[in-house]
Amino acid sequence: MTELFVRTLREDPADAEVPSHRWLVRAGYVRRAAPGIYSWLPLGYRVLRKVEAIVREEMELMGAQEVHLPALLPREPYEATNRWTEYGPNLFRLKDRRGNDMLLGPTHEEIFALMVKDLYNSYKDLPLSLFQIQTKYRDEARPRAGILRGREFVMKDSYSFDIDESGLQKSYDAHRDAYIKIFNRLGLQYEIVAAMSGAMGGSASEEFLGIAENGEDTFVRSPGGYAANVEAVRIPPAEPIPYDDAPAAHAEDTPDTPTIDTLVALANDRFPRADRPWQAGDTLKNVVLMITEPDGTRRPLVIGLPGDREVDAKRLEAQLEPATAEPFGADDFAAHPGLVKGYIGPAALGKESATKIEYLVDPRVGTGTRWLTGADEPGRHVFDLVCGRDFTPDGLIDVAEIREGDPSPDGSGPLHLARGMELGHIFQLGKKYAEALGLQVLDQNGKLVTVTMGSYGVGVSRAVAAVAEDTCDEKGLCWPPEIAPYRVHIVAAGKGSEIAEYAHELAFRLDEAGVEVLLDDRSVSPGVKFADSEILGMPTIVVVGRGLADGMIEVRDRRSGERTDIATADALGHLLALIRNGNAAELLV
Ligand code: ATP
Ligand code: MG
Repeated sequence: MTELFVRTLREDPADAEVPSHRWLVRAGYVRRAAPGIYSWLPLGYRVLRKVEAIVREEMELMGAQEVHLPALLPREPYEATNRWTEYGPNLFRLKDRRGNDMLLGPTHEEIFALMVKDLYNSYKDLPLSLFQIQTKYRDEARPRAGILRGREFVMKDSYSFDIDESGLQKSYDAHRDAYIKIFNRLGLQYEIVAAMSGAMGGSASEEFLGIAENGEDTFVRSPGGYAANVEAVRIPPAEPIPYDDAPAAHAEDTPDTPTIDTLVALANDRFPRADRPWQAGDTLKNVVLMITEPDGTRRPLVIGLPGDREVDAKRLEAQLEPATAEPFGADDFAAHPGLVKGYIGPAALGKESATKIEYLVDPRVGTGTRWLTGADEPGRHVFDLVCGRDFTPDGLIDVAEIREGDPSPDGSGPLHLARGMELGHIFQLGKKYAEALGLQVLDQNGKLVTVTMGSYGVGVSRAVAAVAEDTCDEKGLCWPPEIAPYRVHIVAAGKGSEIAEYAHELAFRLDEAGVEVLLDDRSVSPGVKFADSEILGMPTIVVVGRGLADGMIEVRDRRSGERTDIATADALGHLLALIRNGNAAELLV
């Protein structure tokens, strides 16, 4: 440690929101260079390379071959797939000296497809899976939590190429199995959930979500085994119900009802229902948004949903991608006088209406459902407005929040919500990219067919933070042995030259036996060394101190805090057994 390029910090970094970020910076593993951009220092880089090694090993075992494509890419292929536009502000764009547009790769479907197109032309060449471990660039709107969400980060991305659907399914399953092995080896707690394919297009897609309270994703699980990212939960459209007996719609004065609660209270007071009290879920709330397409065109959209539910921003974003939504501003209302703020009702909405504003409703707003909603006049609401009789939406949009206890869409019981962070994503892309880029091969009958692709990502740098997040405690980092920068941390605690010599000797012997050792040979107080050993987080800490005079050293388990005194005569054998078997207690008996 007298030579190691590291400084531990006593203070938390000002921008640290989550424990992994705090400890990785305080322990001198990473250092911020710019927002969302980090330098890896020696200890951090060792962990990163160990995670990479695990990922590489499992990818090779499943039959994928490693390549390394450029991160600096030309515009044209991304133009062919429309992602130059669709990626929007997330893409880092630049120009070369000739004025050609370039980009820093956010993900590499295009370039992989083109490379295979370049070299392969027959079904006999397939199946093929290629992977790379590479730096990716995304100008994230909200880089956060250190390396958990960076603007530059390391990803393992792989791509499979198959002649048909069943081939793709096999490649997908093989990746899925490899991911299970990778995340198990990393010791991460995760859930495999159904996912949205987003800007990627394609069909089947699953995410590996690390279970983490301060993760950015929300997912649901049901007792019957349904698991999905909330973005991907699809509420089945309501079955039509009869409305012959429904009373005619009638508009009423509803003064001083600025909120749904006040409206419901007034309705119960002045217009009580015979069967049961009015509830928030009986109101139809119309949320107005301004949508911006990737090419910059803007249009209003109104979403109708039961008044007891909010629009979930992430579900909305996932549904609209690559377009984006913003709340309707005062200027927007001024430009659309047909929309009476606070009293917007279906009568003013829809492509057939006077406003021509697109009107999409929640799947619960089915034919025959009856609503209390805006009457398009200040201070008035309309009662008993029946969907399919009094208004016809332009279509459905499934973006209402999912709540704890909601029924699972597949009927497998109530949904339970939890938070997670995306560790990996596997998806069946299908032919979208191959079609756009003309990736075809000859099939068995000599006919040209479009190749079907899969795309698969692991957040390698994110995984470092995810493990840190899962394992750290109030004292610092606490690495699992397989990815710890060093397996053993020897602390020479005390002044005498015997202590220093023995510590060096033990380090040398362990090193000789193939054990990675960090030796704290600094001339600082034992207290500082102990604190640092806890912050740095090697799995086993060996204290060579006063006990040495009596032929004893102390072995500490960083995770459990358990301390064992062992005789110097047994030290090497004890430590090697501990490292190889994970359990020294048995050996001591
Ligand atoms: P997210 O939903 O977290 O933004 P994504 O769906 O955009 O991720 P993919 O394109 O599926 O991510 O990328 C594959 C993997 O790369 C993700 O599963 C995640 O582990 C990792 N990853 C994505 N974005 C980042 C980032 N900004 N910083 C670090 N890792 C990231
Ligand atoms: Mg993803």
